[in-house]
Amino acid sequence: MRVTALAGGTGAAKLLRGLASARPRHELTIIGNTGDDTEIWGLHVSPDLDTVMYALAGRLDAMRGWGVADDTFRCLEAMGDLGAETWFNLGDRDLATHLYRTRALGDGTPLSAVTAELCRRLGVAARILPMSDDPVRTRVRTPDGWLSFQEYFVREKAQVRVLDVEYAGAAASRPAPGVLEAIREADLVVVCPSNPVTSVGPVLAVPGMAQALAAVRSRVVAVSPIVGGAAVSGPAGELMRARGLPVSPVGVAAAYAPWLGTLVIDRSDAARVPELERLGVRPVLADILMTDRDREIALAQLMLAA
Ligand code: GDP
Repeated sequence: MRVTALAGGTGAAKLLRGLASARPRHELTIIGNTGDDTEIWGLHVSPDLDTVMYALAGRLDAMRGWGVADDTFRCLEAMGDLGAETWFNLGDRDLATHLYRTRALGDGTPLSAVTAELCRRLGVAARILPMSDDPVRTRVRTPDGWLSFQEYFVREKAQVRVLDVEYAGAAASRPAPGVLEAIREADLVVVCPSNPVTSVGPVLAVPGMAQALAAVRSRVVAVSPIVGGAAVSGPAGELMRARGLPVSPVGVAAAYAPWLGTLVIDRSDAARVPELERLGVRPVLADILMTDRDREIALAQLMLAA
């Protein structure tokens, strides 16, 4: 069985960890969001690719949900002493990833090849593909102007009003090698419980992606990142509102409707079933809060059976 997953960061990492250990055994390919990639101290940082990679390598810091477990921040402190910006936290061990990636990109290696090499060296069995080797950057418009996604999310702690979101560079980007094939040839396409606007949105903005998904629609299964009227965590609610989407599993279904076959929603949202059906999306009720490893595996198992 071939499984292809569309993934953001923290929400995706939990389901992907479950999928990597769930049965039946399957080949797992992950298409990761690079819309929130950024440059810090001259280094190319790919937060979502790294969160997924560290999770599958068993190195993710479980408390924070990003970065390497038990990392230290001595370099960050030293950069602060030098007057550098320190709002984006880069751990000492994590830095090695960004140094490695930045040097390889500088030598002309595409992001997809660097990611494959990092995964190989960290012992990740799944294949992680960036959505594109071309730069696509999510930007958020606030009352004070445009911010990069990390300025909005980390520096401003998502505490500013969002008026609009754009994916700069998306129109001219191409899917990374293997991405469209991975969708076309999958027995199951999983859309992880990720932020629909800033994690899944940039992936869909790459030309050809939505069409590829629509062509295999009956095999596309998403997990809602929204339970009731709010995101499980993070600013997905605010961002969906800015995009004119209702903050509910129905809003998720509406955003994905042209290419979504099945949406897994929380049991507590059973009342929304008729609305999902009206959108042409098959609803499945389940426990979708992954509060421990057993729940991650249970939800992954349900996806494989769906
Ligand atoms: P980010 O790039 O770190 O924001 O990561 P993602 O976009 O992958 O994940 C954030 C989304 O995952 C948020 O919208 C959360 O509501 C959702 N999320 C986090 N944990 C869970 C969970 O256990 N279950 C479900 N269903 N959604 C979750």
